[in-house]
Amino acid sequence: VFTPANVAAAPEDPLFGLMKAYREDPSDKKVDLGIGAYRDNNAKPWILPVVKKADDAIHNDPNLNHEYLSIGGLADFTAAAQKLIVGADSAAIRENRICSLQTISGTGAVHLGGAFLSKFHPQKPTIYLSNPTWANHNQIFTNVGLKIATYPYFSQQTKGLDFDGMLQALRAAPAGSIILLHACAHNPTGVDPSQDQWRQIATVMRERSHFPFFDTAYQGFASGDLTRDAWAIHYFVEQGFELCVAQSFAKNFGLYGERTGAFHFVSAPGADAAAANRNIASQLAILQRSEISNPPAYGARIASRVLNDPSLFAEWEEDLRTMSGRIQEMRRGLRERLEARGTPGSWDHITSQIGMFSFTGLTEAQVKVLRDEWHVYMTKNGRISMAGLNTHNIDYFAEAVDSVVR
Ligand code: PMP
Repeated sequence: VFTPANVAAAPEDPLFGLMKAYREDPSDKKVDLGIGAYRDNNAKPWILPVVKKADDAIHNDPNLNHEYLSIGGLADFTAAAQKLIVGADSAAIRENRICSLQTISGTGAVHLGGAFLSKFHPQKPTIYLSNPTWANHNQIFTNVGLKIATYPYFSQQTKGLDFDGMLQALRAAPAGSIILLHACAHNPTGVDPSQDQWRQIATVMRERSHFPFFDTAYQGFASGDLTRDAWAIHYFVEQGFELCVAQSFAKNFGLYGERTGAFHFVSAPGADAAAANRNIASQLAILQRSEISNPPAYGARIASRVLNDPSLFAEWEEDLRTMSGRIQEMRRGLRERLEARGTPGSWDHITSQIGMFSFTGLTEAQVKVLRDEWHVYMTKNGRISMAGLNTHNIDYFAEAVDSVVR
């Protein structure tokens, strides 16, 4: 029998716990480097100008109503999202072997993909996650009943990719395993494979018949270039892989709370591909119906306006360059300051890593001193959100890091 009194208290979500501690700290020096959201140079949330424009247009649209979307979401949105993911001229689109459903942001897309594979993959293979990975991956895939294993990813020595370890693990994994890959701007490390390394990863995955599950939460936000940040996905699709993609528009549109995302399933080329993909789409729709019925409209309307209007699209690309450019500036600035101080250790990884996060190499003990004595908040694995740095706090942060590593 179910005895509610026996339900133990769950631990607090570490990231949300950190945010709370930051909010409650009265110090005027405090620095929030935990948050996985873009901040402007005044540490304030930034509404992308193009999003504001689209938002205003939607408000002024006399035809707007609050009816349900269809199960698969806003069709103009998913079609545009799909083009962004595989490229407008992709054979997958031409050959009708990609289906796309709007989801509850990236998290919902990861979940839908996990639920689908758990239910329909006859072998229910283990899913391999990078070590480390976005913490929520573990919970999401466990919740849908998939077994989890990890592959090496981050090298403590180089603070870059443990490429040999990764390839070895992919070779050793049972044939037909599901491999979760971060398309760009790996969270939490900021370390991505080079294009040549991606090619080698694809070769091994082909040899072992592994199934790629791409998670892309930072397209355009990482390098400022949408195509470049989707390179790995484009490459795998061109190589003829059957794969799926969980796509978030939280960061690249700044639509965090609007829960805007999509899930894509690409079938491998072949005579039956379009028919097989239609069947998959129909099962995904049933699954979606039972879980959320249909996705929320608001964020998708905004994204759809921008994605489908060439001049708004160009403004969006400009906004992406603004965000990624500021973050790259902070990376250069932090490295320069630490090197100028002669802070022990090497700091080139700060600029070679990419995207929202940097894995600094700071230890849990050092992170604790930073928090207790310097009012600097970051996750205990030493990850910092680069977006939390700005021209007002970067000197202070460099001084703090210098003091704790000496
Ligand atoms: N995957 C990764 C790797 C992420 O970093 C994030 C955002 N933290 C997500 C998925 C999903 O985020 P959201 O549900 O807000 O789109």
